[in-house]
Amino acid sequence: MRKVRRKAAWLHEQGLPCAKEASYVKLFSTEAAQKIADTGMQLHGGTGYMMETPIQRFWRDARAFTITEGTSEIQHMVIAKELGL
Ligand SMILES: Cc1cc2nc3c(=O)[nH]c(=O)nc-3n(C[C@H](O)[C@H](O)[C@H](O)COP(=O)(O)OP(=O)(O)OC[C@H]3O[C@@H](n4cnc5c(N)ncnc54)[C@H](O)[C@@H]3O)c2cc1C
Repeated sequence: MRKVRRKAAWLHEQGLPCAKEASYVKLFSTEAAQKIADTGMQLHGGTGYMMETPIQRFWRDARAFTITEGTSEIQHMVIAKELGL
């Protein structure tokens, strides 16, 4: 994923089309962040769910990342379109 991330950044800097690469990166990164935050919540058990700890905030923020700036479903659609599927 690091190579794709660099390629997306490079294409963008060159002013070249980068929709497919940007969608790959957005989809992978936000889905990974959500899974990691969810595992963090699970590890902390009930404490992680409580408003007094930052874990619940990490979990909520990570969850929102798969919605904002183009949902995961829309990223899938962009990638499929770019691949000509
Ligand atoms: C914390 C937060 C901050 C935000 N900040 C901003 C901001 O600063 N500026 C701004 O403009 N907006 C902001 N938004 C709005 C955000 O961009 C939208 O919530 C996001 O684009 C999704 O649009 P929607 O909520 O209308 O969902 P909808 O478009 O109604 O989608 C609902 C569900 O249906 C799915 N879906 C929709 N269309 C299709 C399709 N064709 N095929 C398959 N599935 C589909 C979506 O993936 C999603 O799962 C923010 C949202 C949140 C939660």
